[in-house]
Amino acid sequence: MRGRAETRQVNVGGVRIGGGAPVAIQSMTNTKTADADETIKQIWELAEAGCEIVRVSLPDRASIEALPQIKKAAGLPVVADIHFQSELAVAAIRAGADKVRINPGNIGSAEDVRAVIEAAKEAGVPVRIGVNAGSLPKNIKESSMNPADKLIAGALDNIKLVSDLGFEDIVVSVKSSDVNETVAAYRGLAGQVEYPLHLGITESGTLESGSIKSAVGLGILLADGIGDTLRVSLAADPVHEVKVARRILQAVDVRRFSPEVIACPTCARCEVDLISIAEEVERRVRLVDRPIKIAVMGCVVNGPGEAAAADIGIASGKGKGVIFINGAPEKTVAEKDFVDELMKTIEEFLLDAI
Ligand code: SF4
Repeated sequence: MRGRAETRQVNVGGVRIGGGAPVAIQSMTNTKTADADETIKQIWELAEAGCEIVRVSLPDRASIEALPQIKKAAGLPVVADIHFQSELAVAAIRAGADKVRINPGNIGSAEDVRAVIEAAKEAGVPVRIGVNAGSLPKNIKESSMNPADKLIAGALDNIKLVSDLGFEDIVVSVKSSDVNETVAAYRGLAGQVEYPLHLGITESGTLESGSIKSAVGLGILLADGIGDTLRVSLAADPVHEVKVARRILQAVDVRRFSPEVIACPTCARCEVDLISIAEEVERRVRLVDRPIKIAVMGCVVNGPGEAAAADIGIASGKGKGVIFINGAPEKTVAEKDFVDELMKTIEEFLLDAI
């Protein structure tokens, strides 16, 4: 994996994006923003799941009017998502938004963009230039460029528009629902600008297919060292977006949050009910908030090796298994005691580490 690309840093209501800060996890509410109570409730659920910045869509005045109440209760930086009406973006900034996301392809004229930027400058909040494949300006859409280059051209045009106004607190995204296009666009853009990049596969799909597309696309980019914040867009409860984002970051070792259970797929050599054991271990460690690695392995082929490479592991044999701590065999336990003994070992390991 390459080192992280160097980018400028912006401050979104106390959470830093870019410039070496941890890749921040974002999600977006899908309540009616005008219903402040419902929106706040969902933001709390997202925060509980590990969301660090939340975005709310502000399609009308009633939503803007709810924003101060939402901001006050949210406990997270709140980003205002605005399309079509620049005056709503200005109003959202004045109502206390910590950042505003505009899609320059649909926010209006250069004059409209200028009004938003002047308001952001005055309030000291960053702006995300969110370019989407589905809403590129006509001249770019109809050009002969390939899809990734169109996204990049859309982003560069708008970056110029904004930076020519003397505004540099910019975050940029170039999203498509196509993984390869998205990856190519971010790779191309990362080589040309130093602004922090917000990653995402837009409209990626339902829970399963969207998670896989996001994991592949965002995983490739993160492993390339590209990306300063991310949102996994799923047609599902947004709490899943946060859980998937955390797993993606952990899988590419960009951030680690929770225990990782490594388990073998089992085969004819396995002599224990390994799948149930691994599932039970995963269920029980869900409340552990430390990033330890636990290996649950089915036999002596890869078992001792994987178990030894994890913080804690078990390598199974016929009706029994050996628990390893930091690579050293600790004790032999009977199959019926695997989970209990592993959990006891994990607790002791965590206590020792304090
Ligand atoms: Fe099969 Fe052993 Fe590999 Fe598990 S660790 S898949 S049981 S060979």
